[in-house]
Amino acid sequence: MREEDWRSLVELEHSFVGDDLFLATKDDDQEKISFDKTWANLSETVKECQKCSLCDTRNHTVFGEGDVNAKLFFVGEAPGKDEDLSGKPFVGRAGKLLTKMIIAMGLQREDVFIANILKCRPPDNRNPSSEEIEKCVPYLKRQISIIQPKILCTLGSFATKTLLEEETPISKLRGKVYSYEGVSLVPTFHPAYLLRNASMKAKAWQDLQLVMKLLDTR
Ligand code: SF4
Repeated sequence: MREEDWRSLVELEHSFVGDDLFLATKDDDQEKISFDKTWANLSETVKECQKCSLCDTRNHTVFGEGDVNAKLFFVGEAPGKDEDLSGKPFVGRAGKLLTKMIIAMGLQREDVFIANILKCRPPDNRNPSSEEIEKCVPYLKRQISIIQPKILCTLGSFATKTLLEEETPISKLRGKVYSYEGVSLVPTFHPAYLLRNASMKAKAWQDLQLVMKLLDTR
């Protein structure tokens, strides 16, 4: 092959590879822009939500926080006083215990996503009403469908019963793997319950080990 033919072949090849790379980057960028937009829209909708009466007493909505590409998504019940004041999930005593649980799993809080069934605090930390859950849970379901985690770990009875549509007590549901819309779901006790019932920590640790095993194998 003549040298000029060889050079033009190399140039041609470069131009193709360059185009492919350019197109791939462009598609990735578009995908990221659209993801960011969807997420920002959802966050804004929650911030302004007035679908139930909890909007009258809240200081902040608590949208959730963590890695939007997380494989593991923790779902709690509702914000408490500290969460309502800060706008962040699980920052009080129960939150500190959840952080310890995550670290014991060999992860950091930043590696997972954490949100609640309700985005606003029920006054005096009362239980969420079924009407409030019904109005608010579509936000959580949308978060799950956007993040597409591999595992959902529900913390406590309200989160577990709501996603599994089950009335069985958490003590009977825990210790097994379920499926929510094709995502593996592992229920365990709420950290606030573990603070009051330290003897249940061993069972919660068994549940977290189950989560770790699933994370490794998926
Ligand atoms: S609890 Fe949920 S549905 Fe009710 S006002 Fe807050 S964000 Fe809206």
